[in-house]
Amino acid sequence: MTDAAIVMRSATFRYGEREALHDLSFQVAAGTIFSVVGPNGAGKSTMMKLLLGLIQPVEGTVQVLGFDVSSQGQQIRERSAALLEHTGLYDRLSGETNLEFYARVWRLPPDQRNRRIRDVLMHFGLWERRRDLVGTWSRGMKQKLAIARALLHEPELLLLDEPTAGLDPVAAADLRQLVAGLAERGGMTIFMSTHNLHEVEEMADQVVVLREGRIMASGSPAEIARATGSPRTVTVVAAGLTQPVVDALSQLPEVVSIARVSDGLTMQIAAGGGLSSVIQVLTAAGVQIHDVRSTHSELESAFLKLMEER
Ligand code: ADP
Repeated sequence: MTDAAIVMRSATFRYGEREALHDLSFQVAAGTIFSVVGPNGAGKSTMMKLLLGLIQPVEGTVQVLGFDVSSQGQQIRERSAALLEHTGLYDRLSGETNLEFYARVWRLPPDQRNRRIRDVLMHFGLWERRRDLVGTWSRGMKQKLAIARALLHEPELLLLDEPTAGLDPVAAADLRQLVAGLAERGGMTIFMSTHNLHEVEEMADQVVVLREGRIMASGSPAEIARATGSPRTVTVVAAGLTQPVVDALSQLPEVVSIARVSDGLTMQIAAGGGLSSVIQVLTAAGVQIHDVRSTHSELESAFLKLMEER
């Protein structure tokens, strides 16, 4: 048997005449984080509906958790959880009461309900606030509660649509860490759609880049960047730069191009290229490095390139 959580084989889906997904084939290993990225209209939401068995492929097959979406959607939905646009939380109820409500919806046996509610509240750091009305909570806390709610029935697959949209950077980072832990320690398979390519690069084990319902690339973020040969832009803020140092850097094989800017320099680094030689040249020349940042992630460059190619 396979430990793939998702298997698509030549899956095509149409809304009437309009083809929204074309001939998709890929697999997602259980316990990994999978992300689909693409511009609006690429087919991301349609793919989520397909994975939940809410719609069926007109050609090909889609298996989720070992079940066929065309005939076993119910089994899939019992073992999955989806967090879509709306959190589904009630502002006028406390965090705990919200979860009690959903525990009943999921028909958790009464003896398990309290234990599960306690577990998820503790896991998400919400236990202390459990009796406060959700309407008074921050957006980040609400989003955590929404995921906690989705986890009550211990799903094997979690689908998240833009989970960190609208969160401040700290809350977003916190949530990313919690979600990563679910896959890493909990063995859950996570399907995530997001517009944040840095988030994808940081979290996803596997990515499918979709455009107009077709797969433009798939693999790990690094594999996609390598396959498209996309360089990344690195900015170094430094003091003590001289022209000979810049010339020496421009000789390095990984430096595609280099330019001086007011407080340092900016470079294009070839796909897969590291920064150790660059740092070595700079430190050997006595340059003081204040900051090094990648302004475009590799995946971002790859993504932009894939969207441009016709
Ligand atoms: P995304 O989530 O990536 O923005 P969607 O899956 O929503 O993309 O849409 C994929 C394509 O299918 C788009 O061309 C969209 O216009 C079309 N589409 C989406 N929902 C429907 C629908 N209910 N009826 C007809 N066409 C739809």
